[in-house]
Amino acid sequence: MTSDPASQRQRAVWVRLFSYAKPYVPRLLLGTFFGILFGGSTAGLLPVIQKNLSMLGDLGRLSLQATIIIAALLPLLTILRGIGDFASRYMIEWVGKRVVRDMREKLFDHTLKLSMGYFTRSRSGELMSRITNDTMMIENAVSTFIGDLIREPFVLIGGVSYICWLNWQLALLSLVVFPICILPVAHFGRKVRRAAREGQARLANLAAVLQEALTGMRIVKAFGMEDYERRRFNEEAKATFSRAMKVTRANAAIEPIIVFLAAAGAIPVLFYANFTGMKLAELITFFVAMLMMYQPVKKLSKLHLAIQQSSAAADRIFELLDTPIGVTDRTNAVEFRSPVQRIAFEHVGFAYDNEPILQNVSLTVGAGRCVAFVGSSGAGKSTLVSLVPRFYDVTAGRILLNDLDLRDLTQTSLRQQIGMVTQETILFNDTVANNIAYGTANASREAIMEAARRAHAHDFISEMPEGYDTVIGERGVRLSGGQRQRLAIARAILRNPPILILDEATSALDTESERAVQAALDELMAHRTVLAIAHRLSTIMHADCIYVLDAGRVVETGTHAELLALNGTYKRLHDLQFRDTPAPVAAE
Ligand code: ADP
Repeated sequence: MTSDPASQRQRAVWVRLFSYAKPYVPRLLLGTFFGILFGGSTAGLLPVIQKNLSMLGDLGRLSLQATIIIAALLPLLTILRGIGDFASRYMIEWVGKRVVRDMREKLFDHTLKLSMGYFTRSRSGELMSRITNDTMMIENAVSTFIGDLIREPFVLIGGVSYICWLNWQLALLSLVVFPICILPVAHFGRKVRRAAREGQARLANLAAVLQEALTGMRIVKAFGMEDYERRRFNEEAKATFSRAMKVTRANAAIEPIIVFLAAAGAIPVLFYANFTGMKLAELITFFVAMLMMYQPVKKLSKLHLAIQQSSAAADRIFELLDTPIGVTDRTNAVEFRSPVQRIAFEHVGFAYDNEPILQNVSLTVGAGRCVAFVGSSGAGKSTLVSLVPRFYDVTAGRILLNDLDLRDLTQTSLRQQIGMVTQETILFNDTVANNIAYGTANASREAIMEAARRAHAHDFISEMPEGYDTVIGERGVRLSGGQRQRLAIARAILRNPPILILDEATSALDTESERAVQAALDELMAHRTVLAIAHRLSTIMHADCIYVLDAGRVVETGTHAELLALNGTYKRLHDLQFRDTPAPVAAE
């Protein structure tokens, strides 16, 4: 083994991969035991064959006694071999597949913990590919080959011991070729590793292109981008194919090379037999033994390629597992249990990378108050509100909930205080009732219906074929924009959080829908501490305080009337944004 950094790193990946099997060592040992049984009984066939042949040679025919012994031994050995074969394969593959399952669960768990920053940086298709395809690559290698890893060495050891016992000079002569087999195996192993790593990366790109095209299908069609998407997809498919073929070439080439070397190994044996006048039976048994040993050598060399392949996948998996989580709970984080009194931003600064997005933002929102944020697109409104549930941590200053720094609270207890209604309503492929109850454990049907009523959603839900048990699509495709929004509002009402973050959609709704959504929102916002990104004039009019953001700074503060009177940024924005919006009908 060389010890350049690349192969050291590779070894670290293997060690880590095998460390996943640690909890299952007893099963591995049991598998090994059956592997030895398999190897032993396979090699045990050799003396039986030799006996058989030598008797033939001596007598011309078998004696009855020998026939009976052989007749008894043959099935016994094959039964033992069969049990060893079955049980070792079962045990070892169990461990392999279990390791893959553990790995998948760990990956998903880690993915759930990663901060939002990670998801805005990476493509979800590529992430999905790591969790499914890369683990599948390991699973395939495991199912096909790992049984061999434990069984075949024993066949090899059995075979070698037998031929050494038979004739050690001859054994040495024939074994000379085996070390030579390592050369092509190592060479192809390196090739396979590189090709597999690239192939998995291209496969992940393929998944990403697919995912983007599927989720953006409306846009793809509307802009006539089918050809463009097809080209992108085909390019990745082609690249994946060519890498897969590289692996196939290596796999296909390894066997002929080993056969050739094994045949070359037989040549000196032939001459030796000729010179020493070796008995034919002995020579034939010797060849049978060599043939038998050729199997494990072939399998182990393919196994090496499979390990290279799966370590390329493991590398990608560990890369994801090693991505720092970003937002974490401090070791002494406390549960937030008390009633919300206020949220205070104190000189808050934030940067996604290096460029500052928010600077010196200070504001306080009292319990039960509603504040609105306005500002041109890119001013930092979404960023600002996403700091409250700690999707990101502030990079300067601090945010307090009552008197506690958000970073001193557990994320779970903090987020339990917060409800979010965002522009994009995410509905899951589940029933209406379960969609409303998402995030509220053990909600009763009555509570769900009550929330729906208050969100002005009960009527349209009741008209659905199966009412609350109707399954709605992944993105709620069978619902109108207004209906989706009202379901999201019902979800927030049911969860009943003291703090509400509102970034409601501006999508044009017909007057009736608009009125229903507005009524639902009023119901939701009542008695809560609300931070709203104001898209509606009505939200603004009802806000206790409006903060006008410009390039990450609060530039104006006041009520709607005060800010209009100021005749500054707000007035300009207001005229631009709400010029055509009719003034809302006063609520209540
Ligand atoms: P608004 O909600 O007011 O439109 P945002 O808070 O979405 O503004 O964005 C503020 C700035 O932060 C923009 O310049 C935007 O490009 C940048 N930004 C938003 N999200 C990210 C992100 N995940 N990574 C890097 N920059 C971002």
